[in-house]
Amino acid sequence: MEQERTEIQDLGEFGLIDYLTRNIEIQNASTVLGVGDDAAVIDHFGKQTVISTDMLVEGIHFDLMYTPLKHLGYKAVVVNLSDIYAMNATPTQITVSIAFSNRFSLEALNEFYEGVYAACEKYGVDLIGGDTSNSQKGFIISVTAIGEVTPDQFVKRSTAEKGDLLCVTGDLGAAYLGLTLLEREKKIYLESPEVKPDLEDQTYIIGRQLKPEARKDIIEFLQQEDIKPTSMMDVSDGLSSEILHIAKQSNLGVVLYEDKIPIAQESKEIAMKFGLDPTACALSGGEDYELLFTMKQADYDKIVLNEQISVIGYMTDITEGAHILTKGGNKYKLVAQGWNAFQQ
Ligand SMILES: [Mg+2]
Repeated sequence: MEQERTEIQDLGEFGLIDYLTRNIEIQNASTVLGVGDDAAVIDHFGKQTVISTDMLVEGIHFDLMYTPLKHLGYKAVVVNLSDIYAMNATPTQITVSIAFSNRFSLEALNEFYEGVYAACEKYGVDLIGGDTSNSQKGFIISVTAIGEVTPDQFVKRSTAEKGDLLCVTGDLGAAYLGLTLLEREKKIYLESPEVKPDLEDQTYIIGRQLKPEARKDIIEFLQQEDIKPTSMMDVSDGLSSEILHIAKQSNLGVVLYEDKIPIAQESKEIAMKFGLDPTACALSGGEDYELLFTMKQADYDKIVLNEQISVIGYMTDITEGAHILTKGGNKYKLVAQGWNAFQQ
């Protein structure tokens, strides 16, 4: 079936903006004025404002050969919301700016915005502005997320303390394995287009790569249990580099237990198939968008029954350095890309 194609130049920029924002319904009282004026107006009613921004460039951050535009729109929003949650804050508004070449039709942009709005609805945020522009080649997306937090309840990376437990949510490594699988299938397709990819059994890892979720549920759980993490960040790069950020910025050492790192069974199986070490995928892969945080040992009883939170280590004095204790009983220095077996 031939897909409909409407040229964007037929609408003009303002027509395009009107079209893409026609169904917006404001969800937050803090959104005083949304799309349609020179600027939006936000009133956070005495709360502090948290802001984070990210840029995604075609060919660098995503590949449209295997990324559906709807998923891309969803992911572009979610990865920004994840940064707001990682501050222990609640996202309330986003702006989305895009630049696109004439390769993109109105129908294509519409698909992208379907993903954007799906994420807005799921996480309860309002799209309040943005910009559209032409690009000579490729698709460029910039999202800014705005959130609110009760004054001084935000959580930084630099405030972990010696003896604190190191925790991570969900499971790790799946998004990287999903990417590895998609890249492999792409290569096979480019070499022999008649081979149909068989991705049926791999929906978990592919979903983790193409449609990640931010851990809103964990932030709500921590608030319910009256736990304020002593430090926190989201896992957008690999686990090891994120742990080193917290240790370094808090001026501490850290011990990480390999056997405590949460890895899904599906991830272990596909890693084995690819000849990859599942632990290495968790340590050095990226894009899991889980939360990594430290908390007081006294709070342990409050999280022990939550299967979405794993205690994976603890913070030590800076003189003790950053190490991983492996399943085999070895102790290695933790480095940004996994661990270095030659530097004990
Ligand atoms: Mg982050």
